[in-house]
Amino acid sequence: MRLDHPYENLAGGQWLRGNLHTHTTRSDGRADPQVVIDHYARLGYAFLMLSDHDIFTSPADYAKLDAKGLVLIPGNEVTAGGPHLLHVDGDRLVAPVPLRQEIINAVNASRGFAIVNHPNWHAHFDHCTASQLAEWVGYTGMEIFNGVIARLDGSPYALGKWDMQLARGRRIWGFANDDMHDPEQDLALGWNVAYVTDRSVAGVVDALRKGRFYASTGVGIDRISVEGTRVRVEAKEAQRIVVYQKTGKRLAKADASVLEVEVPASAGYVRFECWGAGERFAWTQPFFVAE
Ligand SMILES: [Zn+2]
Ligand SMILES: [Zn+2]
Repeated sequence: MRLDHPYENLAGGQWLRGNLHTHTTRSDGRADPQVVIDHYARLGYAFLMLSDHDIFTSPADYAKLDAKGLVLIPGNEVTAGGPHLLHVDGDRLVAPVPLRQEIINAVNASRGFAIVNHPNWHAHFDHCTASQLAEWVGYTGMEIFNGVIARLDGSPYALGKWDMQLARGRRIWGFANDDMHDPEQDLALGWNVAYVTDRSVAGVVDALRKGRFYASTGVGIDRISVEGTRVRVEAKEAQRIVVYQKTGKRLAKADASVLEVEVPASAGYVRFECWGAGERFAWTQPFFVAE
């Protein structure tokens, strides 16, 4: 038995923080694109995707703005006609046809990848149901945290729906994004920290596509190491670390800033949650049990 996971050979690169989901005055955001970029640059972010509703932000659009040192990823949020999806690193606008599987296919036929957004939005937590997540194929990730939903109906968290898919053997990465609409309320609520060897759109997108990142709402992970079937996670900002296995069952926990576990073959997968002070978390991607 071995573990299949995205954190192998972390060398020669750096951890970069970024948000893939923000709106601007081009759709229903309060701030114009340059102001949004300025906010994230000021906060020390390294990458950002402007993801307006069904309005594609292209490299040519970015060229008219001052990137302020940020890696700016082309894309948009596919919105009309059904559950929302992020089209990351798009090369064109994909039409928001009602059939989401067709959109995911079109995204994959472009150079980009798709993320399912805020599954637990709405009073019945059903913006995107567990059945839809199970039915659709070819999407790369889902938002396990979406900041703006913290002030709307539903829940910003979707860890349960993630575990349900992982337990079915699906390889889906968990993303944390702001979904920033209002800089006064939605800035720096959730982000992704990617291990990037080439600080460019291609380099950041490659890391995200392969799951070489963790999602966070405030806790940083200092070290992820795997030796055989042992996984060790260190996060000095964590007060508790919890390890989940198949179907969301807890495998281990410690009130400490480091936790090392031996992954049993029966686990299916494990993932680590690092709980910090207040409402601050970090989530690793899953480590899958492979033959
Ligand atoms: Zn949305
Ligand atoms: Zn959005």
